[in-house]
Amino acid sequence: MSKRPMAILFDMTVCAGCNACVEACREGHGFSDGKDEIHELAADAYCSLNEKEDYSYRNLCRHCIAPSCASVCPVGALEKRPEGPVSYDAGKCMGCRYCVTACPFSIPRYEWDNPIPAVRKCDMCWDHVEQGGIPRCAEACRYDATLFGPRDEMLAEAWSRIEEDPDEYYAHVYGEHEVGGTSVLFLTPFPLEELGFQKRLGNESLPRLTWDVLDKIPGFAVTAAAGLMALGWIIRRRDEVGELEARIRTDRVTANSKEVRHDDRR
Ligand code: SF4
Ligand code: SF4
Ligand code: SF4
Repeated sequence: MSKRPMAILFDMTVCAGCNACVEACREGHGFSDGKDEIHELAADAYCSLNEKEDYSYRNLCRHCIAPSCASVCPVGALEKRPEGPVSYDAGKCMGCRYCVTACPFSIPRYEWDNPIPAVRKCDMCWDHVEQGGIPRCAEACRYDATLFGPRDEMLAEAWSRIEEDPDEYYAHVYGEHEVGGTSVLFLTPFPLEELGFQKRLGNESLPRLTWDVLDKIPGFAVTAAAGLMALGWIIRRRDEVGELEARIRTDRVTANSKEVRHDDRR
């Protein structure tokens, strides 16, 4: 697969609101519970679909080029991959939920109901893409409203649509520069701010701004990071020791019952 950074382009002006992207996303991630209309992101809904005037619009993780979620994660559970997606490793996550707070687009959701909770968000269907597929939402879209390809080609496509039909589009590609650029790009008929979920975020990468502030208090930054990494290590270690103890207990019970059966035969 290409190592060029990939991106999703969503064009609100041609979206038919058919919901196929939402259904494909949920089915592809094993959430086949019959709930098909998703208006809010949730731990079991990685993208949503809403309406404004005569238009439909999607919401999903933007796969930021400099993701705030990854920059605040003390144990490296979230990571920006060179191919585009911001991936998440539940095995590393210690459940601090800093990523949930740090995301400027309020994307990650936490599994409050799960005894072993994880953070959930769009993964750009990376397991599927690595096997030669494309994100399930783009695969399902029959209207060229959700496209997937190299980010530079998606940007070129977006600008060519604007130039070909300037009356239809608001002349801006959201995600080209916002928060340092994102790997999900939006084309809209009016300023995205009018949809309510888009704040004025500026073009500066947010992790850079954060670290500029923390640079002024280096002792705090280093101590906090070291403390959180240690905490993460202790939690993971405690879980590993717990699993090992459980395995030893199971082995002992099995060995004892074998001995009893052996004695019975004598
Ligand atoms: S949109 Fe939020 S969750 Fe997604 S990569 Fe950016 S900061 Fe992380
Ligand atoms: S890229 Fe995959 S996980 Fe993300 S919204 Fe599309 S189908 Fe869902
Ligand atoms: S599948 Fe395409 S046209 Fe249908 S709602 Fe999703 S983005 Fe819009």
